[in-house]
Amino acid sequence: MSNVINLKKAKQRRAEGKTLCTSGFHKWQLLAGRRFDVKQGRLVSTERCQRCGEERIKLT
Ligand SMILES: [Zn+2]
Repeated sequence: MSNVINLKKAKQRRAEGKTLCTSGFHKWQLLAGRRFDVKQGRLVSTERCQRCGEERIKLT
């Protein structure tokens, strides 16, 4: 296995939980509200990692 480093978020890394986050185990928290993405033509919900602030979008 190789080390996976998220270069994009490296500058805002925090000591707490960093190892988990860099390993891909983010602490996702669902942000309030879902919206309808016109371009995608479906509902999307946003999640943010409580530790590193990484965000991801889930299509519903
Ligand atoms: Zn994270």
